[in-house]
Amino acid sequence: MVGASAASSANGPSSDDPAPGAGASATAVTYDLLLRRGHVVDPKNDRDKVMDIAVKDGKIAAVGSKIDPSRAKRTIDIKGKYLAPGFIDMHTHLFRGEQDAYADGVLGLPPDGFTFRAGVTTALDTGSSGAENFELFKKNIIDTSKTRVLAMLNIVGKGMAGGDKEQDLSNMSADKAAKVAKKYPEIIRGIKTAHYNGPSWEPVERSIKAGEMAGVPAMIDFGSDSPERSIEELLTKRLRAGDIYSHVYSGLRHELGDDGKLNPALQAGRDRGILFDVGHGGGSFDWNVAMEGKKEGFWPDSISTDLHTDSMNAGMKDMSNVMSKFLTMGQPLSDVIEESTWKPAQALGRKDLGNLSVGSPADIAVFDLEKGEFGYADSFGLRVDGKEKLVTELTVRAGEVVWDLNGRTANPWTPGAVGDKSNEEHAAP
Ligand SMILES: [Zn+2]
Repeated sequence: MVGASAASSANGPSSDDPAPGAGASATAVTYDLLLRRGHVVDPKNDRDKVMDIAVKDGKIAAVGSKIDPSRAKRTIDIKGKYLAPGFIDMHTHLFRGEQDAYADGVLGLPPDGFTFRAGVTTALDTGSSGAENFELFKKNIIDTSKTRVLAMLNIVGKGMAGGDKEQDLSNMSADKAAKVAKKYPEIIRGIKTAHYNGPSWEPVERSIKAGEMAGVPAMIDFGSDSPERSIEELLTKRLRAGDIYSHVYSGLRHELGDDGKLNPALQAGRDRGILFDVGHGGGSFDWNVAMEGKKEGFWPDSISTDLHTDSMNAGMKDMSNVMSKFLTMGQPLSDVIEESTWKPAQALGRKDLGNLSVGSPADIAVFDLEKGEFGYADSFGLRVDGKEKLVTELTVRAGEVVWDLNGRTANPWTPGAVGDKSNEEHAAP
């Protein structure tokens, strides 16, 4: 009897208490994170104004002019900052390893060190791996990175293994590439051909064929063009709508004519639906080409870094620096954001990304446009000065704050303050 009585009284308060019960508060959503008063730039949804964004379970849960902070576990006031979908870097090399080139090699970079600090939450590895080593790339890099890593699979089975290996037509199988691409449709979003210097159209044709079999576009780094294999033929005859031409401002394949005007094949290709990617890299951004592009209104469909060891400390630096170059050229911020979010998401057939729609992954970039004196170098020793620089303040990936430039999520230190020692990382000597 005593036991029953005790049980009864223990049950009493909980059933009477509306807080954890089925009362009004049960319908009130508790958000994991609320970012308040940021200037939201979300081109997909035509948003370009100050708004609040709430996140729950790794997804965008609410977007509104005023969301009650009492409904969020953590609130960060970002008044005065911009907020955009996490950037998508359409051209990177992330297959870091022990070999001597980009495939499982020393020229690639581990993604998380170079993405979040520049607002990037999704990076597309462009052909570092091929059908023979994609699974190694997936195991070593894709599956172990917080950055969402997508891939263009190289038409060369060995991927970007360097030198002669990338000239070997016998290692370029459309069937094998398509088979691997179809096995990983969420990750492999295209077929890449690159660095080929011969006269044959086979690398391009087989990339297109593999893309057709797997239902994905081809991305072209045209290597060197020649009379037998010209950029004009590539853009006006070979590539299809949705295929991607990278390194568009390199000037290395007659993108700029001897008359100083853009090669008319670029606009002809755009009229056919071909997409144009920046792919800045260590040797693929020439101010002469980019400035003529500005003059002729030929802006990129996607802004990207071509991140690797030879570009990371050169004129390229990182995604936010490349985006700043387009701001410096006078492109409106909303266009620069669209070319770094929603347009690449569409090009990759991943319309869940690059936007802040409710239900989309909570991948978010919060940034400042710092005013000052800034210099922007191209790949050929030429500099353009600018007054603005995009600096990433906070990056959120799947709802988790993964970059926090000014410690906004930390508590202010006061004498005697006790920090959080629960994280096992702090236990290391
Ligand atoms: Zn590249």
